[in-house]
Amino acid sequence: MRRVIRNITCPNCGSNYVVKVGKIKGKQAYLCRDCHRKFIENAKHWYPQWLRDEAIQMYLKGTDPHLISEILEVPYHTVVMWIRRYVILNKTNKQ
Ligand SMILES: [Zn+2]
Repeated sequence: MRRVIRNITCPNCGSNYVVKVGKIKGKQAYLCRDCHRKFIENAKHWYPQWLRDEAIQMYLKGTDPHLISEILEVPYHTVVMWIRRYVILNKTNKQ
């Protein structure tokens, strides 16, 4: 029987409608019933995609990462990580 795990949130869409689907590389794997994405349990805190997008949008408008961190209530290093990833991805796309 597949059971819905209430304390797990889908990192892709933020849904709680998530079920266990065995293990991948020794880690518990989950399947989101809403967006049908598979993901692995992660010790790190997950943030929904819209929050990342919001942080990037604020960054593009020239908002200081410290301020973004305060407004979105996301740790500063996480905000910087998202921005860094965004910048790297953008550079790769342009070349
Ligand atoms: Zn999902």
